[in-house]
Amino acid sequence: MTIRKNPAAPRKILVTSALPYANGSIHLGHLVEYIQTDIWVRFQKMRGNECHYVCADDTHGTPIMLRAEKEGITPEQLIARVWQEHYDDFAAFHVAFDNYGSTNSNETKEFAQGIYRKLKAENLIEVRSIEQYYDPVKSMFLPDRFIKGECPKCHAKDQYGDNCEACGAAYVPTELINPYSAVSGAKPELRNSDHYFFKLSADTCQQFLREWTRSGSLQAEAANKMQEWLGAEGENKLSDWDISRDAPYFGFEIPDAPGKYFYVWLDAPVGYMGSFKQLCAKSGIAFDDYWKPGSDAELYHFIGKDILYFHALFWPAMLQHAGFRTPTKLFAHGFLTVNGEKMSKSRGTFITARSYVEHIKNTEYLRYYYAAKLNGTMEDLDLNLEDFVAKVNSDLIGKYINIASRCAGFITNKFEGKVVLPQRMFNYGSESQGVESDSLQASFASKASEIAALYESRDFAKALREIMALTDQANQYIDEMKPWVLAKQEGQEERLQTVCSSGLNLFRILTLYLKPVLPELAKKIESFLNIPPLQWSDAQTLLQNHTINTYQHLATRLDPKLIEAMVAANQESLKPMTESHSETRHAEHQQKAIAPIAETIGIDDFMKVDLRVARIVNAEHVEGAEKLLKLTLDIGEAQPRTVFAGIKSAYDPEKLKGRMTVMVANLAPRKMKFGLSEGMVLAASGEAPGLFILSPDEGAQPGMRIK
Ligand SMILES: [Zn+2]
Repeated sequence: MTIRKNPAAPRKILVTSALPYANGSIHLGHLVEYIQTDIWVRFQKMRGNECHYVCADDTHGTPIMLRAEKEGITPEQLIARVWQEHYDDFAAFHVAFDNYGSTNSNETKEFAQGIYRKLKAENLIEVRSIEQYYDPVKSMFLPDRFIKGECPKCHAKDQYGDNCEACGAAYVPTELINPYSAVSGAKPELRNSDHYFFKLSADTCQQFLREWTRSGSLQAEAANKMQEWLGAEGENKLSDWDISRDAPYFGFEIPDAPGKYFYVWLDAPVGYMGSFKQLCAKSGIAFDDYWKPGSDAELYHFIGKDILYFHALFWPAMLQHAGFRTPTKLFAHGFLTVNGEKMSKSRGTFITARSYVEHIKNTEYLRYYYAAKLNGTMEDLDLNLEDFVAKVNSDLIGKYINIASRCAGFITNKFEGKVVLPQRMFNYGSESQGVESDSLQASFASKASEIAALYESRDFAKALREIMALTDQANQYIDEMKPWVLAKQEGQEERLQTVCSSGLNLFRILTLYLKPVLPELAKKIESFLNIPPLQWSDAQTLLQNHTINTYQHLATRLDPKLIEAMVAANQESLKPMTESHSETRHAEHQQKAIAPIAETIGIDDFMKVDLRVARIVNAEHVEGAEKLLKLTLDIGEAQPRTVFAGIKSAYDPEKLKGRMTVMVANLAPRKMKFGLSEGMVLAASGEAPGLFILSPDEGAQPGMRIK
């Protein structure tokens, strides 16, 4: 039925998205990048290119160590659980990695240590004793990310110790103004420790980076930023990069340096190699074909603009001097705003992937909307929730799906499912171009290279505008031909079959063009049209003398009520005791506001609440409960009380036993699915990750009243 042109020699392409940190859930902000990358990869695969897409969880560092400690589990247990959550979330959004690994893998460890050894042999590693901030309360050196203070450049408050999210400046923690420990809140002390440095200030690094950042590997605005960071010729503004951290640390030990670990940012990008190595092992790809210097394979990293510094300076310099090829290009994107503002928990717009799936279900709607906004630049992207509903319903349902639903019924009911076009529509003269030049089919097919070029340059927004313009033309054709009128007229059967067959052929090409964005819908449509998976070259062919399957409902309008419910549910989660607020480092510093203070009450109102010191006699998991722990509390009464508390995400029950806390003792008992809850324990939560139950000072006894 279809004749396919021999594709040109396929390109070899390796694509990565930034590694999500194993310290929190995937949210709609992260998904911009994974959806953008996935669309691009799917497009490359449809073109017949040999394209591999790998990613991994970024698992090392102090945040992981501290969170695992708080949950009473090992870091390995924590990262295994989060890996599964991330994996499931990506799958739900049809982000199809060829391999999804973890930086805590043997492969990544070997590459990280190998690169380090090579850099050392090249005389690019130096050990220096440095003064570093030490948390005297927590007895540990504080990693950059656990020291906060005022940015020395732009004076933004509460910035982290390694770079400023307000102005993008990179610096060392000792440059921060008024530093404090984010672990304990203590004022950190300076202490000495030996640290390992990658000598980025060496001439060879500066020289290389100066050339590399100007070689077309970066978007123009990113390249300019790098020149700023590199300084003028001879200025050598780059300082050496501290790649070691002291124990206790969850990560890879530095070879021949006991108690010293690689800083998480050293092995994070190495995770791209580790994950790809795993793919090579299972699919027989030759690793060196993609990573040796001089490789003809293309290597692309999709990243957020906030991590350009690491990917455009440290990473290529490491690769270059360790004997690997450097990236072909970095594709940086902007941040997500929702309704024109930063994602916010208090507005209910800090939406996790899981919450979206629970409420909206259809994840391709979001893929479509993001694609309609992504233009390949570093500009921020806005998810306007009203516009989201309008666009999905008008473009996808009203225009695109409508074409199939208007044509398919007639073909099935009147022509036994046969798509038949008249012979005049074919031009057998040319080798594979089965399309008559002056037909609408030909005009649709002729757009294939233009739309391909737009996908290639990541201007998905423009690609979708072109495709929607074609969709309008297809609907206009059906409006003019009026198949529903033809169906009622004597002797118009052949015409009716032609019109509907043409309509379905147009729908097929539109499906092909939209397939990188809407892969699941395309799969359903391929099954309904009874055709093999569409490839890009299929745009040049027609369905002829072909039997389709019965049309099944393809998609439902997006109900704005679902959006309202999703926003409300995310606002709900602000209330204490419902959920721990884990976030990832890409977004966690964006929201600083505390929840609004509740309305003023009198002392009498307060005294109505009977708060008591309680000893946690027992704590245990509740079978079937996702969030609850069952606590047995002694407040000095004859019988202990049972309280179900929503703190499972934050506490290991074993660690709670014997602890003192505070409970509301006069709360009306509540019948719950798992039993009667006779009170409530108090816990603090806010914008920052974590949930914290209260403890009285030492000496307080069970039953003491708090006032
Ligand atoms: Zn700043």
